[in-house]
Amino acid sequence: MSFGKINICLFSQDKDKITFKDVAGLKESKEELEEVVDFLKNPKKFLDIGAKIPRGVLLMGPPGTGKTLLARAVAGESNVPFFHLSASEFVEMFVGVGASRVRDLFQTAKKAAPSIIFIDEIDAVGRERGAGLGGGHDEREQTLNQILVEMDGFERDTNVIVMAATNRPDILDQALLRPGRFDRRVLLDMPDLHDREDILKIHAKGKPFDESVNLKVVATRTPGFSGADLANLLNEAAIVTARAGRKKVTQDDILNSIEKVLLGPARRSRVTIQKEREITAYHEAGHALVAATLKDSDPVHKVTIISRGMAGGYTLKLPIEERRLKTKAQFLADLAVSFGGYAAESIIFKDVSTGSSSDIQYATDLAHKAITRYGMSDVIGPRTLGKNHELMFLGREISSEKDYSEKTGEMIDSEMNVIMKKSLETAKKIITTNKDTLDIIARKLMENETIEQEEFNEIIKASGIKQIVMK
Ligand code: ATP
Repeated sequence: MSFGKINICLFSQDKDKITFKDVAGLKESKEELEEVVDFLKNPKKFLDIGAKIPRGVLLMGPPGTGKTLLARAVAGESNVPFFHLSASEFVEMFVGVGASRVRDLFQTAKKAAPSIIFIDEIDAVGRERGAGLGGGHDEREQTLNQILVEMDGFERDTNVIVMAATNRPDILDQALLRPGRFDRRVLLDMPDLHDREDILKIHAKGKPFDESVNLKVVATRTPGFSGADLANLLNEAAIVTARAGRKKVTQDDILNSIEKVLLGPARRSRVTIQKEREITAYHEAGHALVAATLKDSDPVHKVTIISRGMAGGYTLKLPIEERRLKTKAQFLADLAVSFGGYAAESIIFKDVSTGSSSDIQYATDLAHKAITRYGMSDVIGPRTLGKNHELMFLGREISSEKDYSEKTGEMIDSEMNVIMKKSLETAKKIITTNKDTLDIIARKLMENETIEQEEFNEIIKASGIKQIVMK
């Protein structure tokens, strides 16, 4: 019976050694962790002066930002064994198995001390106890308690550091975060432009690039990509190159892979009837034209009617610079751009198609958030409306508790209608005023399927379109 034993993954230090050099960006996170490396290497220095060795380090950050990588780098830098497992592996069908596995894990790590235990997805067992749907979950609670007991039981000089990763620090049990437990918290952020370029450089190793490749341009085109996405992107580009029987990866391979990663593979073989092609061309031209006209919208990088994934065509807009905040003006511009396709269809064909459904959904969500989360409605003012509840195991938003009156509910509805209508009116006005330009863009799309940024900018410039601010 090996129920109580755990399948721990131990990285051999020589073969897969990872150090801080293999982790791009994350400067502050690395600086924080250097201290941990120092503790592991020279515990005596700290013990002699009466300092306690830190027990738990919690790495927090969105998925794919390099939490596991960084934990392995700490082990690599300090040259200690690294025991890696995912918290979901603790929890099985039988009650008590998790706790026994925790004991087993800590025992093994203590024998190998100095060492690092890395528990991935700690939120799988470390959610606030007693919270959530369907009452408590005994097995999870017991497992969590056992982790806490083990960490409390460390002697002052036990040289085992527990590192854990989560992308949901907000739902963790407070007991985990108390001093003596996971009291060190390291935040990992999504990479910015410069970091993205560095991550790309790391993953470019071993892939022969043609001289056309410019990783800086790739970095500018990938805002919102995590380290894992970027690694995946270069891998996709290498696969495409190998499948085409070529020896070197080109810039085009990489740029095409960006769209593949974002939207799914291109579906060139999808047969479209002429009429649908025309509707799609005008629809995309509508988005692009509104985006180019509104000052607060991001610039258009590409417009295409080649279908990808679920999208019939798409307009790729990217911010000029990294942004952490979004203003009300940008929200409104975004709304108008998302109605660009719908507006173009209704003006040109005097009819609308199902092609706008995802745009409408996006616009509705955006308007709802602007009003109920960001206080962007003058009528309602700055107030959070509705409390969100999370589903225990999937971590998804499933319901929203109404914490406002019927009357406020009606106000939200009417405000949503007001700003959405206003955005649609703006989109329609832009399209009616610049109908000739819309025709030029749509015709070009029907001819060549894709318009790249330069050509698009030339069309806009030649048409003498002046940028406006939405009021
Ligand atoms: P999850 O929350 O999904 O477990 P994670 O934050 O643990 O994700 P990792 O597994 O560490 O993410 O990262 C996945 C891969 O992405 C790494 O193996 C690495 O190839 C790449 N990666 C992520 N961040 C970086 C970075 N800063 N530098 C270099 N590579 C990175």
